[in-house]
Amino acid sequence: MHAEIIAIGDELTSGERLDTNSQWLSQRLGELGIRCLYHSTVGDDLAANVRVFREALDRSDILVCTGGLGPTADDLTRQGIAETIGVELVLDEESLARIQTMFARRKREMPERNTIQAMFPAGSRAILNPHGTAPGIDLLFERPGRSPCRLFALPGVPAEMREMWEQSVRPSIQEMMGERRVIRHHQIKCFGVGESDLEQMLPDVIARGRQPSVGITVHKATITLRITAEAESEDACIEAMQPTIATIRDCLGSLIFGEETTELQHAVVEMLRSRSQSLATLEWGSGGLLADWLSEADPTSEVFRGGIVVRTASSLATTIGQTELGGDALDERKVIGRLATHARQQFGTDYGLALGAFPNSNSDNDPGEFHFAFATRDEAYTKSLPFSGHPDILKERATKQALNFLRLSLLS
Ligand code: AMP
Ligand code: MG
Repeated sequence: MHAEIIAIGDELTSGERLDTNSQWLSQRLGELGIRCLYHSTVGDDLAANVRVFREALDRSDILVCTGGLGPTADDLTRQGIAETIGVELVLDEESLARIQTMFARRKREMPERNTIQAMFPAGSRAILNPHGTAPGIDLLFERPGRSPCRLFALPGVPAEMREMWEQSVRPSIQEMMGERRVIRHHQIKCFGVGESDLEQMLPDVIARGRQPSVGITVHKATITLRITAEAESEDACIEAMQPTIATIRDCLGSLIFGEETTELQHAVVEMLRSRSQSLATLEWGSGGLLADWLSEADPTSEVFRGGIVVRTASSLATTIGQTELGGDALDERKVIGRLATHARQQFGTDYGLALGAFPNSNSDNDPGEFHFAFATRDEAYTKSLPFSGHPDILKERATKQALNFLRLSLLS
């Protein structure tokens, strides 16, 4: 059994508004153990709606639609459903009375056009909307020789949609399913290699159709492995995932920096916090991103004591002092270690982390390099890497590379 979500509205297909309903509904269906195989988005056009409904009623077992149940001429969901299944719209007196009462309570006369909200495709039932005028539609569509398809149409307003899901749709689906199935996920976060290299390090867990399944996604050079288990209870899911999680940890070792929603800066702050150690930064190319991330990860400032942001060679010289830079001012590879030490000394911390300027051009032929360094009380360690890749992720990736250098240095 699988589900399909249909999001309806010109504001969605024109790009004016983001369809958040589909994401939310997919997550709720997943919690019930129901896989969502299709998301369809369609504008306010009757023929297009009919086409989408026709296909969805054929290929999916549960349909949840949102939007298009308003009283205005552009809202066509009820007409679309009626036309798809070949029935008339009929007035539901009880729904009409409810809508009239709602207007009366707001001391307003019900406009005639709101009557349409009490019209339902013949054979369907109304879904109560406690805080809006538009009731939903619940319809069982018979399919010859196959199990029927159950369709739920809900208003687009996210708050109304969610309340109606909780009160009516979810219980109906659970009743339909009889036995309860749940889906749970666990995320493992990695940094330091490419996606395909990482996949090769995990010989058999990514295979299609495997249970529990493992998926890989990359976001700004951070790789997330998402393990998914389906079972009769949450505990059974967690137990089923354990051997896979253990295999992944064995194969990837220190490439893994955290789990679930952890980012590199949280991992670094946690390592330092557990050792009661502190950190200060000096950054140039990243324009304060390092300090921003570390501040967010350390709201109590126990670990991250402060950072210096410079934007030009002369502001660096002013901040550090020309004498400290000596004759190496223009050779960043040589001075970056001293910058990390300077940050450490300025803020009186155990460690200093410095991230240098980023090259101006990044062509794949000649990407240029950037430098970063990690200073302890005794020594400074420097590393240089090529600055290449898509411009959208360069700054974040370089900042993560510096953080990861610190993390790995602390581990060893
Ligand atoms: P409708 O039910 O089509 O009249 O939509 C009512 C309101 O809900 C509008 O302001 C829409 O922008 C909003 N809305 C409709 N569909 C969605 C959706 N899929 N995600 C988020 N908001 C939506
Ligand atoms: Mg609409």
